[in-house]
Amino acid sequence: AATIYYDNDADLSHLKGKTVAIIGYGSQGHAQAQNLRDSGCEVIIGQRPGGPNYDLAKSHGFEPMSADEATAKADVVNLLLPDEVQGDVYKAQIRDNLKPGNVLMCSHGFNIHFGQIEPPTGVDTLLVAPKGPGHLVRSEYEKGGGVPSLIALGEGASEETKQIGLAYAKGIGGTRGGVIETTFQEETETDLFGEQVVLCGGLSELIKAGFETLVEAGYQPEMAYFECMHEVKLIVDLFYQGGLSYMRYSISNTAEYGDYVTGPRIITPETKAEMKRVLTEIQNGTFARNWILENRGGAAMFKTTRRLEQGHPIETVGKRLRSLMSWIDDKQV
Ligand code: NDP
Ligand code: MG
Ligand code: MG
Repeated sequence: AATIYYDNDADLSHLKGKTVAIIGYGSQGHAQAQNLRDSGCEVIIGQRPGGPNYDLAKSHGFEPMSADEATAKADVVNLLLPDEVQGDVYKAQIRDNLKPGNVLMCSHGFNIHFGQIEPPTGVDTLLVAPKGPGHLVRSEYEKGGGVPSLIALGEGASEETKQIGLAYAKGIGGTRGGVIETTFQEETETDLFGEQVVLCGGLSELIKAGFETLVEAGYQPEMAYFECMHEVKLIVDLFYQGGLSYMRYSISNTAEYGDYVTGPRIITPETKAEMKRVLTEIQNGTFARNWILENRGGAAMFKTTRRLEQGHPIETVGKRLRSLMSWIDDKQV
């Protein structure tokens, strides 16, 4: 079983007298920075000017500065930029401002695990990753709780760095929810696998294929939307509360029987064999290389696919139906 740390296993004094630089005031940055400050830590912000996140940091009472300056002033530097820009910003603004004894942190191991960020000697790497989006990290902390988090030490990191990591996790509220010990490799590979195979890739394609099958058979898109997209949330909420068993307890016996006989016809041994190939490509760096090269090429395929996907009929009908459901906090992209 995994080792899990709670509040009593962590001591904030390991951050006492240290300055933490949060680089990037986005989803994770704004939450982790404010939680740490409310926990009594010394926090500074590295955030480029000109955008709403700069103004947000100011309105929260920080004095945002450049990433270079924040790094130079800090003992602990947490890179909370989008993964695909971290490598370039690191090389241009962070690397040469790190000093021996500093700790370089992240909330996802992609760049360090896949060798896009190679810290100088004397600088330990440390991962503290909340298992939830930034707004939840902030709102749970404000309620006195915390989002469960992960902790991992980079190669050769010291015991003191681990204590700093636990203190950091406590400062953002993570130890209130539990902090699971992992490695950079495990965090990076399972995170990529989960989002590609189940959460984002798998689920989106499942929903689209179901919707298209009904519409192509002549059913109304509104009906297909409700069955294949809208109701997903109702089912997932049941998983979230009580797993597969509670979902199956709550649905009709007819739905449960259909689950057992049809589910394995949709997700077949072939699907699982493909999942294994996806995992291999994550493990051997093929996926990381492709994503890095895609960004070097101006993200042409990424941007085009995003635009095409936004024009899918399920998006058009969905927009209209969601505007009719007043209780939904409807978001437009
Ligand atoms: P966001 O996309 O919210 O971060 C955006 C921040 O990065 C903003 O401050 C933005 O500034 C800045 N930024 C973007 N591009 C550049 C650039 N080219 N140069 C300088 N600054 C730039 O990131 P997240 O918070 O989502 O992710 C941060 C890290 O946390 C990632 O490693 C991610 O994997 C990890 N993580 C994220 C989770 C999540 O739910 N979001 C969950 C767990 C981990 P500006 O406003 O000026 O563009
Ligand atoms: Mg991820
Ligand atoms: Mg039904």
